[in-house]
Amino acid sequence: MTKRKIEDSLEADTERKKISTRDKSLYLDTINRKVLDFDYEKVCCVSLSSTNIYGCLVCNKYFRGRSMDSECFLHSINDDHHVFVNFDTLSFHILPENYQLDEQTASSLNDIRQQINPTYKDLKDIYQDTSLKRDLAGREYRPGFIGLSNFGANDYSNVILQALAHVPPLRDYLLLYPEKLHKTKLVGKLSLLVRKMYSPNLFKSHLSAHELMQFVSSSTNKRFSLHHESEPKDFLMWLLNNMHKELVSELQNNMISSIFQGKVELPSGKSKFWMLTLTLPSVTLFKDGAKLEIPQVALEDLLAAKKYKIAKAPQFLTFYIKRKDDTQKIAGVNGSNINPTVVKFNPSQLKVDTHVYKLIANVVYSSGQNENYSLEREDQAHYKIHVLDEVRNEWLEIDDLKVKPIEKDLLFLNQTYLQFWQKIA
Ligand SMILES: [Zn+2]
Repeated sequence: MTKRKIEDSLEADTERKKISTRDKSLYLDTINRKVLDFDYEKVCCVSLSSTNIYGCLVCNKYFRGRSMDSECFLHSINDDHHVFVNFDTLSFHILPENYQLDEQTASSLNDIRQQINPTYKDLKDIYQDTSLKRDLAGREYRPGFIGLSNFGANDYSNVILQALAHVPPLRDYLLLYPEKLHKTKLVGKLSLLVRKMYSPNLFKSHLSAHELMQFVSSSTNKRFSLHHESEPKDFLMWLLNNMHKELVSELQNNMISSIFQGKVELPSGKSKFWMLTLTLPSVTLFKDGAKLEIPQVALEDLLAAKKYKIAKAPQFLTFYIKRKDDTQKIAGVNGSNINPTVVKFNPSQLKVDTHVYKLIANVVYSSGQNENYSLEREDQAHYKIHVLDEVRNEWLEIDDLKVKPIEKDLLFLNQTYLQFWQKIA
């Protein structure tokens, strides 16, 4: 090769390099963080395939593969979108040119990796940081207290997922050890959701449990889905049982039972329980002048009315307060079959035999102000949850996407449905 030719070819090389660097940064400029959320089940939106899925960082849609006949490749040509993330490896790819970003360039997109798969080195901030964070739109949010989308009927599961995300020993395990959970499909998906809920770097200050619930829906043959109402307590029982089975069989870990399971003394011997059902006295509402009398009962009295003694008090005690009574429709308000009795309790202290508990989460029936709730359909109930933010010492109400503070002293005024109490002494 002559000197001239060598210079030409070097120049051409440099020129190519310049163009490709410029293209790359032009492409990276098309990433639209404001539309990204990664909450949906990872399936190709064209082929419905669930393997080898890439996310388009321009429009937030998911596609299969990146070979020349793949949906991902075609999307890059048809829609002129060029930057994709592989959900398994968290590597970034430029299409249709089909090259992977080098790690140095990719590290400038680490904030996106943290949206897809948030990780925690320690829990210092979870236990100490009182600050509010801001999402990309400037909206303030409190990590850990994040609204969840309702796809039409899944407030029943949202309240349970919120409750479990606020049981400290379970939450801490799910935050710290995601790599241990790669074989546990159910617990692994709950871990991912909880890790997102506590992220201080959310692009959007709300999330959706779509990926977890699609998995639950297919595992239960749609018994629990995003689109059909179910009882929160049934969903809780299913979750606890199945998470327990999965952790025991995959990791020989019995943390779920050690957190939630207690024992009652029956005439036939001791029996394990996940949850205690408390029955309300049946009531007939009457008009006292213009005033509607709503009966009140103390939680301690409901507990004392249980026939069975608690033989082993669990670390976290769960009560189901049975309000629905199909045989006595007269008990409800406005023709509904929901018993409106007010259950009085002190959130800071509940004595159960020799133990003392404090309330950490309170699932309640929502009154009619929610647009999804209509009194015409008496079988339709809507649920919301009150959760304790221990670090800021305040209670928050989470009603699907809506999060707002609520006075501790007013918690009992709601129609309590499920309560989670933590043993403190
Ligand atoms: Zn796209």
